[in-house]
Amino acid sequence: MAIAPRPGILDIAPYVGGESKVAGREAVARLAANENPLGPSPKAVEAYRALAGDLNRYPDGGAVALRQAIAKRYDLELDRLVCGAGSDELIALLVRAYAGPGDEVVHSAHGFLMYAISARTAGATPVSVPERNLTADPEALLAAVTERTRLVFLANPNNPTGSYLSYETVRGLAERLPEDVLLVLDAAYAEYVEAGDYDDGLSLVEKLPNVVVLRTFSKIHGLAALRLGWAYGPKAVIDVLNRVRGPFNVSAAALAAGVAAIEDAGHLERSRAHNARIHDWFRRQLERLNLRAEPSVGNFVLVRFADAPGAAAFLKERGVLVRPVGSYGLPDHLRITLGTDREMQAVVEALEAYRQ
Ligand SMILES: *Cc1c(COP(=O)(O)O)cnc(C)c1O
Repeated sequence: MAIAPRPGILDIAPYVGGESKVAGREAVARLAANENPLGPSPKAVEAYRALAGDLNRYPDGGAVALRQAIAKRYDLELDRLVCGAGSDELIALLVRAYAGPGDEVVHSAHGFLMYAISARTAGATPVSVPERNLTADPEALLAAVTERTRLVFLANPNNPTGSYLSYETVRGLAERLPEDVLLVLDAAYAEYVEAGDYDDGLSLVEKLPNVVVLRTFSKIHGLAALRLGWAYGPKAVIDVLNRVRGPFNVSAAALAAGVAAIEDAGHLERSRAHNARIHDWFRRQLERLNLRAEPSVGNFVLVRFADAPGAAAFLKERGVLVRPVGSYGLPDHLRITLGTDREMQAVVEALEAYRQ
């Protein structure tokens, strides 16, 4: 008999990330992966470079310095923190540790794709819950919970829609979930949100026994290449993650750059201010072009097109890479990351040409 993976594995459609090249050359505008167009903090780059002489050494498997820096920055308890090779790794580990064949993993219909992929990888069943106005529906999420549900994933704000739920709404959802169901709040874009009623959920972790918050260095910190994320959760959950993770799951380069990034509040503020300014400008341009953009609190905008694949192909010809989101159940939209001034000028010019 031929070798075969476990049942369900071959049902997984491989994750296809945003493109980065056009016919082998660098793109004019890379707006397909929600990366920070300003790049990382120069101090993080310096810390990364400084590591070059120590590549023979294993990293600190406990990520102590980084966890201390995170705990200090957000006023958190050190032993409720664990780091991962991107939040992707933490999503996968949570699912693997808490769900298996016969179990269900609930996520909202246009939620981040890695939730369903990780569920299938673990042999569990992903359960997709309809949204309202491209926003997660807490009542529907609760109604989808059964005896078999082990985890509920909520990206807040969500990628690719850009929508969010208020702190009060998330708290209501968390409080009404059965205590044996883990609520995973994925706050990858938290730093960008300016809405006064938003909260990343870290305070809920200390109030409730079944809430985990995920954060990443891939977005506003501009360190996507290094793969670094962290989870804040109940001690019992963090203990489980420490058992199932690889002993050196985060590289020394990521640890060093992460500490420098978290301590550089100025760079984060510049990145947020740039995003807010270019977001306003881009929205006005889209209005002028009669293109409809969904509301967004992140560093990207979901734009509706009569022919989204055609528009994406047209933009690509001009070296402008955006993200088709058909795999997220949104075949009539393109997700456009808010880039540098020059990149946004390029996408607007390409859209003008497309409209003519
Ligand atoms: C980009 C993103 C992440 C981050 O993934 P990493 O593995 O940390 O790079 C997590 N969740 C959502 C919703 C995202 O959009």
